[in-house]
Amino acid sequence: MMYDVIIIGGGIAGLMAAIEAKTDTNRVAIMTKGNIFKSNSALASGGINAVLDANNSGAIEQHIDDTLNGAYELGNKKAISYMCQRAPKIIEKLVKLGVKFDRDKQGHILQRSFGGTSSKRTCFVGDKTGAEITQVLIKTAKNMGIKFLVNNFVMNLTTLNRNVSGVVAIRRFDSSVVVYPAKSVILAGGGFAGIYRGYSTNAQDYTGDLLAVALRAGLHLKDMEFVQFHPTGFVKTNYLVSEAARGEGGYLINSDGKRFVDELGARDVVSRAIMNQIENGKEVFLDLRHLSKETIETKLPSLYKTAYMQAGIDISQELLPIKPVAHYTMGGIETDMVSTDIDGLFACGECASGGVHGANRLGGNSLLEGVVFGEMAGKKALMYSEAKDFLPIDYSKVIKDIKLVDHIFDSDTTKNFNAMRVSLGKVMFENVGIKRDEQSLIRAYDYISYLRSEVPTLHCVNKERTNNVELISILELRNALEIAEAVILSALKRRESRGSHYRIDFPGGDESLQQNIVVKELSKGQLRVWFKENPLLYKIRKWFSHH
Ligand SMILES: Cc1cc2nc3c(=O)[nH]c(=O)nc-3n(C[C@H](O)[C@H](O)[C@H](O)COP(=O)(O)OP(=O)(O)OC[C@H]3O[C@@H](n4cnc5c(N)ncnc54)[C@H](O)[C@@H]3O)c2cc1C
Repeated sequence: MMYDVIIIGGGIAGLMAAIEAKTDTNRVAIMTKGNIFKSNSALASGGINAVLDANNSGAIEQHIDDTLNGAYELGNKKAISYMCQRAPKIIEKLVKLGVKFDRDKQGHILQRSFGGTSSKRTCFVGDKTGAEITQVLIKTAKNMGIKFLVNNFVMNLTTLNRNVSGVVAIRRFDSSVVVYPAKSVILAGGGFAGIYRGYSTNAQDYTGDLLAVALRAGLHLKDMEFVQFHPTGFVKTNYLVSEAARGEGGYLINSDGKRFVDELGARDVVSRAIMNQIENGKEVFLDLRHLSKETIETKLPSLYKTAYMQAGIDISQELLPIKPVAHYTMGGIETDMVSTDIDGLFACGECASGGVHGANRLGGNSLLEGVVFGEMAGKKALMYSEAKDFLPIDYSKVIKDIKLVDHIFDSDTTKNFNAMRVSLGKVMFENVGIKRDEQSLIRAYDYISYLRSEVPTLHCVNKERTNNVELISILELRNALEIAEAVILSALKRRESRGSHYRIDFPGGDESLQQNIVVKELSKGQLRVWFKENPLLYKIRKWFSHH
């Protein structure tokens, strides 16, 4: 089937893009690797930031300033200003579509505090904001006639002379490789914090597939060293305790019963403060015991239930043990607002790096980014598709992907790729985590290089082609390893501390490094990393011996 616009990703960014791209007559499809209800967007609990009065230019300026400050000098002012100015209208649009934000008795939308902000501007639906918004958008998209191509794992894009021409995906039902011609394509595949498997709020399939797809298509990734660690995950299950818990007045205390940090400070600052406590042998807890039962039950209902179910703790009476976990990835596909260097190809949401978050992200700003830039990407893709014809498909690309799938099925293996995925997560958290230094980064680089050298030897043990989960797991691991290497090389290159990137060996910031780092694939997985305005090729020890 041919489509005017294909959107890869069914989270908030992809759904919004699809709704904007659809007309009464054109063909628009959303492609997802799992079912449509499964996304980080659907998990987002705390809320979405916006100044609600479009005429309150002072408050909007404040939102812009907070976001710029949160970005540690790497924020893109054009993109940030656009996002914050568009926010009031986008909330109105969501309300018109049917999102029921929590309101006060007079009917005004309620707003809560989130970290790193100077005033309350986070709109919410209890602590299920993302689920409510995505369900409304899914329903809208379905009613508009948008096609859902679920359980399609995207492997690559096809292009002709730097114009996009289609999408190559595995139909999971029978593991066949299918090409979907499209006039325009939008990448909205989410982030890659799942590569920190076992130490992340993201599902384990958040492996940065579309970033790897973009690298293979010749695009640049940007800001890959900036991985955000959320201060509060459940100690045993990594379940996210939303900032809403601290926004509603929760404290962080250590095992001596002492508060040790401003709970609503920026996430990188709070996460490091917690790590310091843990390194000093203390446990850290979220203390909500002083909040009224009514506040807990009405404002934090999911947390109340989940703490009981996953940790056996009644948060209205007991302390909840927490630890920082990998949560959000500021880096992604380099875009100018939503445009990429390939004509007809756009990127939005967490997989894109348009510079809205710079070196750190404010809680509540990513749902906003998704919906604002999803809207823009949808509009642009529609315009592009209306002006262009379908292009011929380069079948040599498709055949390459078919051969790769056959290769993964056709041989036997003694390697346990699941164990590799688990150890990748551990190595990344321990060496490329909240704190890093040159030694830890080189250790991680060596290990990832070893895993990458093993990749050609990974095959499915189960040869059944119907719904084969091993095939997708292996392809995800291949993507995750390339993305992990991009993170490590970028982190090595940035010899300073800034935002979420903290180098023990360079604890201060360096003004001369107020530039973005970009990554490009040279050939067959070899990466080059350089500062954007100062293209200095990066080399590290043993580079050539590994490639
Ligand atoms: C637990 C949790 C709580 C959060 N709370 C908040 C919050 O309160 N406020 C806030 O602003 N942000 C929050 N965030 C962050 C926010 O949810 C995400 O940044 C945002 O939802 C990303 O949206 P997205 O549309 O870019 O991608 P996602 O919602 O992540 O969707 C990605 C989509 O891409 C598809 N996909 C990926 N790879 C492939 C492939 N190879 N082939 C086909 N499809 C593919 C997936 O199937 C999925 O449909 C939270 C995140 C988490 C994990």
